[in-house]
Amino acid sequence: MTTTAKQWLEHIHALPHQKDKVKIMNVCGGHERSITMAGLRKALPEYIELVPGPGCPVCVCPEEDIFEAIQLALHEDIILLAFGDMLRVPVNVPKARARTLEQARAQGADIRPVASPTEVVAIAKDNVDKAVVFFAAGFETTTAPVAAMMVEGVPENLSVLLSGRLTWPAVAMLLESGEPGFDALVAPGHVSTIMGPEEWDFVVNKHNIPAAVAGFKPESLLAAMYSTLRQLNEGRYFLDNCYPELVKAGGNKSAQSHLNKAMSVYDANWRGVGIIPQSGYMLEKSYSQYDARKLFPSYADDARKRAGQMPPGCDCAQVVLGKIYPNQCKLFGAACKPRNPIGPCMVSDEGACRIWWAGGMRESVNVKKKAVG
Ligand code: SF4
Repeated sequence: MTTTAKQWLEHIHALPHQKDKVKIMNVCGGHERSITMAGLRKALPEYIELVPGPGCPVCVCPEEDIFEAIQLALHEDIILLAFGDMLRVPVNVPKARARTLEQARAQGADIRPVASPTEVVAIAKDNVDKAVVFFAAGFETTTAPVAAMMVEGVPENLSVLLSGRLTWPAVAMLLESGEPGFDALVAPGHVSTIMGPEEWDFVVNKHNIPAAVAGFKPESLLAAMYSTLRQLNEGRYFLDNCYPELVKAGGNKSAQSHLNKAMSVYDANWRGVGIIPQSGYMLEKSYSQYDARKLFPSYADDARKRAGQMPPGCDCAQVVLGKIYPNQCKLFGAACKPRNPIGPCMVSDEGACRIWWAGGMRESVNVKKKAVG
């Protein structure tokens, strides 16, 4: 018989209460959505704080990559394909210019939202006389299918503007900063399905912080939270797999093989955060004939004053790193709402600001009084 969410909550409430706050970070937009939509924060004892961390690939996609995609779509004779979330993410240009892919499309660029590499290949095959560029931004779970697409062979007219990122280096960076801002980690289930749960061993072994892999249902998330709380109580830390139905030791070897064949890992830029060592995917040299960065001119514009940064006033980088909660940004719910997003965290379905707003957590709070950490 499986343990229900209600039973896990009872188990958590039965644990000895801590005097100090216990901060549990998640690093997955899907986790944050489930936590918020199920109202888990209100259901847990007061001493537990759930901190959304670096779980939104759209939010950390470098501003200059989005700028490049917009310029390619506007100035080259191409069809530009991107995951739907990317279309509304703004870059820092004067208002008269296209600030998003959506605005570039309104100016006549052929930009189409896609949901999968399969759709990308189909569009390329349907348009053999046209160059097709796939702007592929995402974490391991999104990048692995892109790698599979490359390995299986793509149409000659298709190239990729890759902006892939790995999740664990961002967590490692937080832990190595000396001020991680969390006491326990709920590790992402989907990423672990591909890369293997062992990828998160370093959290326990190197940093002595309890961790548990969770799926997306409240009962799986609560099981992982219970595990880390119990580990803290007992002072005995280990990586617990609370998503064993899908997460297997060693992960998905086939997906890893595709990633190893088509991609290499490099020190990559995260928007508003900076360079994180070994955190980005780039196409392997043997696939350079499909690399849009090599096939088309660079539109990098050194004159743009805020290139690489978040929009003015937007605290997305702090939200992504779990340093503040979404409603601690001054613009949350005021200038910035899903209909009129200022920063990427309010655009993407995986962005904490959008999730909190959609989940009814709309009350703005004073950042000075209640900052995380
Ligand atoms: S509320 Fe808007 S401006 Fe503030 S951090 Fe979130 S996305 Fe950025």
